[in-house]
Amino acid sequence: MIRNIKQLDDETFDVVIVGGGVYGLSTAWDASLRGLKVAVLEQSDFGKATSSASLKLVHGGLRYLQHLNFARMRVSIGERKHMLYMAPHLVHPLEFLIPCYSHGMKGPEALQLAMLANDVISFDRNIGLDDPEKHIPIGRRTSNEECLRRIPGLKQEGLKGGGSFYDAQMYNSERLTLAFGLSAAAQGCVAANYARVTRFKVEHGRIQAATVKDLIGGNEIEVRGKLFINMTGPWSDITAQLTKTDNPDRRVVRSKGVQLIAKPLADVAFSIESKQKDSTVLIKRGGRNYFVTPWRGKAFFGTTDTLYRGAPEDFAITQKDVAEFVAEMADIFPAAELKYEDVSFWIGGMRPVGEEDSNPEVAKAAHKYEIVDHSREDGIQNLLSIVGVKYTICRHIAQRVVQAVFLKRGKTPPPCTTATTRLAGGHIDRFDDFLREACRTSPWNETITRHLALNYGSDWRSIAKLAEADKSLATTLSGSGEVLRAEVLHAIRNEMALKLTDVVMRRTDLGTLGHPGRSALEECATLMARELGWNDEKRADELTEAEAIYKLPPG
Ligand SMILES: Cc1cc2nc3c(=O)[nH]c(=O)nc-3n(C[C@H](O)[C@H](O)[C@H](O)COP(=O)(O)OP(=O)(O)OC[C@H]3O[C@@H](n4cnc5c(N)ncnc54)[C@H](O)[C@@H]3O)c2cc1C
Repeated sequence: MIRNIKQLDDETFDVVIVGGGVYGLSTAWDASLRGLKVAVLEQSDFGKATSSASLKLVHGGLRYLQHLNFARMRVSIGERKHMLYMAPHLVHPLEFLIPCYSHGMKGPEALQLAMLANDVISFDRNIGLDDPEKHIPIGRRTSNEECLRRIPGLKQEGLKGGGSFYDAQMYNSERLTLAFGLSAAAQGCVAANYARVTRFKVEHGRIQAATVKDLIGGNEIEVRGKLFINMTGPWSDITAQLTKTDNPDRRVVRSKGVQLIAKPLADVAFSIESKQKDSTVLIKRGGRNYFVTPWRGKAFFGTTDTLYRGAPEDFAITQKDVAEFVAEMADIFPAAELKYEDVSFWIGGMRPVGEEDSNPEVAKAAHKYEIVDHSREDGIQNLLSIVGVKYTICRHIAQRVVQAVFLKRGKTPPPCTTATTRLAGGHIDRFDDFLREACRTSPWNETITRHLALNYGSDWRSIAKLAEADKSLATTLSGSGEVLRAEVLHAIRNEMALKLTDVVMRRTDLGTLGHPGRSALEECATLMARELGWNDEKRADELTEAEAIYKLPPG
């Protein structure tokens, strides 16, 4: 994936996508696969905003049972399967254990019925997945003994057993988002990060071009297209106004979600009921749930849900957010013994406020999101706006959007092939066999090889080739157990990493569990400086920016 600003300036594209989150990139992949000439413009780095803020769940939507929304559930179940197929190295089944403390609607009997309904509704969840390791097993009831053994510290008093069911989890959501971009680029899509759309040039009700500020080179270009798609997530209402003004109104309402990473708690995901009532469901089972999921050797706590009225670019997780979440955990699950200083990292983002938000304050400000055709909204003939609400179903929405693009052009859409096409790195028949073979042939130990296989999948050999050609790249960054120096070079040369934070947070998994240590950051910055020709001042600035990620504002 090469950043080619000149090509963006020179050519006219069938589709120009604004926003390089998972929605923009998955749509670019589908559109490119169906033969369209596509450009993607991202103001920051690919996947840096909401797409890296998720709880990492690829979920089949068991929760929609409570809303009796079977159609939505079917879509989620199908998309979970497609994700397991498209990126078998990055998406893996995850077991959930739900402890119960009463009978009736909150009891194990009702849970068992729900799991049975889930199994029936998802009858075809494994069809087409040849790898048994990717199969989602049926749900089952669990004993008190199993709940207590598998969730250390779980309150024994009043426990009435529980239920176990499976969903799926992303090992590295940043690399999954990137995989859509890499796959789109392999089909001819021209994408650029640090390329901000500042205005749409409109003539006779049609956008002729997007004015784009190249935040790296400093110059301004015009990207011409026949159709423009606004996939800017929390910025979408702001972006839509760029047809009229370059100083859009910034009054947006979103829900703010915060998640914490801390020491591991259990080898299974489990839920903890909060004291906040869930007012939106039709079948009430009590308060809304927090989830604690095992993730890369740590525990991942999520997700808070509060109303956020600020501008998207001002979004920040604060010391207050973390302290409040820790205090709530101490109240509802004291066994976690979670203290502020145990939190190694925090992740959060903004969601569009929707009818299903479980926080009543958030739910009250309900909005409906859909594929908006601006020819009907405000007379702009060639602009579509889409706000995604769930990472899991991005492929499905992309399919619908590309369909709409062809129909808008008066053409019959060619068949969509994304559900049966592997993403970059996903060319793996059976993950266990693939891992065994990688370990057998790899020059590195099992820990490093496993890390490469999980992050890069079938493309792990590109890293090995770099290290073979230059032995100094075959070692890990100092202070990091797994991340190889070759990965830094690979990120710059093949994955459009331009800043230290791109490498630390989104190309490698060096910094996503917490501060990787000053020496690893320094070494990474030195490698980048050498490759990209940074002077000392630029290198120091990049280090300051990376360090800032780990400092919370007071709030
Ligand atoms: C706390 C939280 C937890 C979640 N957990 C889950 C989960 O476990 N599972 C799940 O399926 N979903 C989850 N979601 C939802 C999921 O993360 C989002 O639906 C999805 O990531 C949205 O992707 P996107 O591409 O629409 O938005 P984004 O990732 O925000 O991408 C939009 C992009 O547009 C860019 N942009 C904005 N303005 C411009 C401009 N003028 N020019 C160029 N680029 C621009 C931005 O920089 C940004 O990168 C969660 C969401 C939150 C907030």
